[in-house]
Amino acid sequence: MFHCELLEIAMADIHSILVVGAGTMGNGIAHVAAQNGYSVTLVDVSAEQLERALGIIRTNLQRQASKGTIAESDIPTILGRIATATDLEAAAAGVDFAIEAASENLDIKRSIFRMLDAHAPAHCILASNTSSISITTIAAITSRADHVIGMHFFNPVPVMKLCEIVRGQATSEETYQATFALAQALGKTPVTVKDYPGFVSNRILMPMINEAIYCLMEGVASAEDIDTVMKLGMNHPMGPLQLADFIGLDVCLAIMEVLHEGLGDDKYRPCPLLRRMVAAGYLGRKTGRGFYSYS
Ligand code: NAD
Repeated sequence: MFHCELLEIAMADIHSILVVGAGTMGNGIAHVAAQNGYSVTLVDVSAEQLERALGIIRTNLQRQASKGTIAESDIPTILGRIATATDLEAAAAGVDFAIEAASENLDIKRSIFRMLDAHAPAHCILASNTSSISITTIAAITSRADHVIGMHFFNPVPVMKLCEIVRGQATSEETYQATFALAQALGKTPVTVKDYPGFVSNRILMPMINEAIYCLMEGVASAEDIDTVMKLGMNHPMGPLQLADFIGLDVCLAIMEVLHEGLGDDKYRPCPLLRRMVAAGYLGRKTGRGFYSYS
């Protein structure tokens, strides 16, 4: 009973959420937090990126209103809950929960978590949306490793229901319970995973994509036929090569390297064709060319 009481207090204490990084994921996280009644501060090093993020959130809210999932009249209220800032130090003071969604680079995350640790209130939980960096490594940079956790959302955040809650080596039970409850309050379905490379999502998805690339490299079938097998035979909405183009081949390679190095097993070796595509600058949709052409 005492435990439940403690947890209720922890959840009730979360009113304001700081989102660090206003890119693809950050604007989506700010959107769902504001839509669910939280007061949000969205921070980025780039003022231009913050403007762009607000524009995207507005457009996405309008799309929801036209589908009838929110009322048109709620849009100004939701947008009114989002403040933007470029000064992380000032923005961190007084927040209850921080979600870092900045670029996937350990040095960048290190400097953000040092700053959050120094300036966010002692009760504030520090979460990272990282896809591949160890939560335990990030937590060790701070003096509150028990308050650090992973919150791995999926793109596009307002649409995708899943959130992997990643418990680092030192994450406390209270931090975990409060974060799990927050994910639910944001309308997500949280799953609990331990801090191993790739968590569950990328540990399963990326080797499948890598194997599809091996099939292509070895001439087992054409790209179109490999994708057709997985779409019609396994009922996947998108084939693995098409999905790789969508995610970005550089991102797929980086995640395979993390799995290979972190798990130390050659079954995770990146396919040489994936390396060659990345070296050629064929990164998928974002460069107009990957396993398919996009013009
Ligand atoms: P993105 O490149 O779209 O956005 C990153 C943003 O971080 C940029 O706007 C950049 O200006 C900002 N930034 C960089 N350094 C900063 C700093 N010091 N302080 C504040 N802002 C800073 O990246 P993204 O795709 O949104 O990914 C963000 C995080 O989410 C990464 O850790 C990534 O691994 C993870 N993630 C991405 C996806 C995806 O599908 N894109 C899915 C799940 C998780």
